Amino acid sequence: MLPFIRRDLNQLQAYVPHPGGISGSLVQPIDSLDRLDTNECPYDLPETLKQKLAWAYQHQIETNRYPDGSHASLKIAISQYVNTNFPGSQASITPEQISVGNGSDELIRALLIATCLGGEGSILVANPTFSMYGILAETLGISVVKVNRLETDFSIDLEAATRTIQSTQTPPIRIVFVVHPNSPTANPLTPDELNWLRTLPEEILVVIDEAYFEFSQTSLAGELSLHPNWMILRTFSKAFRLAALRVGYGIAHPQFIAVLEKVRLPYNLPGFSQLAAEFALCHQAELLSVIPEILAQRQQLAADLAQQSRWKIWPSASNFLYIRPQFEDASRMPDTLEQFRQNLKSQGTLIRHTGGGLRITIGTPAENQRTWQRMMKL
Ligand SMILES: *Cc1c(COP(=O)(O)O)cnc(C)c1O
Repeated sequence: MLPFIRRDLNQLQAYVPHPGGISGSLVQPIDSLDRLDTNECPYDLPETLKQKLAWAYQHQIETNRYPDGSHASLKIAISQYVNTNFPGSQASITPEQISVGNGSDELIRALLIATCLGGEGSILVANPTFSMYGILAETLGISVVKVNRLETDFSIDLEAATRTIQSTQTPPIRIVFVVHPNSPTANPLTPDELNWLRTLPEEILVVIDEAYFEFSQTSLAGELSLHPNWMILRTFSKAFRLAALRVGYGIAHPQFIAVLEKVRLPYNLPGFSQLAAEFALCHQAELLSVIPEILAQRQQLAADLAQQSRWKIWPSASNFLYIRPQFEDASRMPDTLEQFRQNLKSQGTLIRHTGGGLRITIGTPAENQRTWQRMMKL
């Protein structure tokens, strides 16, 4: 390590988007594989919409000018979307309650900076969960405290979490991260977990990551006004098909949003990304119309895999399935699963090996059928 580099970064594991998928021993180019390892929507923008967006790029963006650093019109469009596309209860979110990031990853980093940096706090995560919270915290020298989930339904071990919050003092827990529904395990928050989050004290920020909201159709946005210490994260990378353009947003108390706006980079979101996100909201009915097909395909793949008694399959509230081998010797499991993942990759299907199991994104009907056929053979 070069001597001017922070010593704690020595041990740091970088996030690898397609482990073993794009470099190393790969024979096929990445786009010849069924890429079912990063939970995107399998469909690109429809051709006519892409053309319209290209037209808008040509005619509405001056590339020599800085983009709108306040994201004003995008925030208005997002607040309308949050307030209307909302089953169950009422939300009345204003643009002052929204911050937009270069992917929700940028927002995660901004909120870590705004709460925990400089020894002010640690974060609590319940594994297995989205690895980015821990990775980003560690790049900032923020310590990550981990508790487990129960294997029956992957809900958080709430007793352990409560004990851990009470006993962690140097520095205290400042953020609890939950995903609703969780990745990689696909379960939404249970009523007990929700009640627990409601009782957390106001000096702890509760981050509820709703990256898969459009698939689960469950949101806590309607409860935000009751909890100044809650923040909801969402993204355009999944159901809205804009992963390439990196747009995420957070919804929270206006005072917290004002701080996040101070912390982020001034022109964090390229003009084209802002344009595309607004465009996607304008065409939300068309873009989200494939969700019923994806959910039906999820049921189909789960049913197909269940024919093989080999897999334990957990219920999913999202666009992916989480499975583990039913009978495998636990001590051999990681090796066996990694071997299985590699074999499946050489058959042409990329899935993710994480949290002691396999996470399979639901793709197009043809991809899902290949997934099942290839898995049957291995
Ligand atoms: C995919 C995903 C995101 C999205 O991150 P972006 O930076 O917006 O692409 C956020 N949280 C979770 C849990 C995810 O799975």
